[in-house]
Amino acid sequence: MTQQTLVLIKPDGLKKSLTGNVLTRLSETKLDIVAAKIVKVSRELAEKHYAALKDKPFYGDLIKYIMGEYHKKKVMALVYWGEDAINNVRKICGSTNPEEADPVSIRGAYGRITTKGVYENVIHASTNAQEAEREIKLWFQPDEVIVDLYPTKIIKEKIERRAWA
Ligand code: UDP
Ligand code: MG
Repeated sequence: MTQQTLVLIKPDGLKKSLTGNVLTRLSETKLDIVAAKIVKVSRELAEKHYAALKDKPFYGDLIKYIMGEYHKKKVMALVYWGEDAINNVRKICGSTNPEEADPVSIRGAYGRITTKGVYENVIHASTNAQEAEREIKLWFQPDEVIVDLYPTKIIKEKIERRAWA
């Protein structure tokens, strides 16, 4: 089944110059990258992204981690698209806990557990189609993705925005 999935190279991945390695590993999937950008993650975006984990003991540190407070204040966000995209990407990522992850997976090879107990595991990938839809819509606007993934609508709004001077 053709699917789409959200991938984030987390701030530890960027700080450790792992972008190239991670993208190379993901290219094994033969999936298409249909959206990509560098994002400075706001608290609002971080909290929405990890809303399901807000009662976990590590939530506060997780929000700081994804906002880049421990590394660099940036994340690389991508959408991968193609056959069985969700599982194919998750397989290469490895388990959530980097110590339990297959050593040749991205998380197994490059992740660590901090002394505070946060899993700095380099990469995020959606776990199912529902989560992928929620996350892709949170991180990307329809025009930032080069294929039509979900239904869209035209809205007319008067907005002030910054433009090149
Ligand atoms: N996490 C953590 N400790 C845990 C579980 C999760 O620090 O015991 C962090 C880790 O960075 C993980 C993120 O919270 O990637 C989201 O957790 P989730 O259970 O959704 O794992 P994932 O889907 O990323 O494998
Ligand atoms: Mg998850």
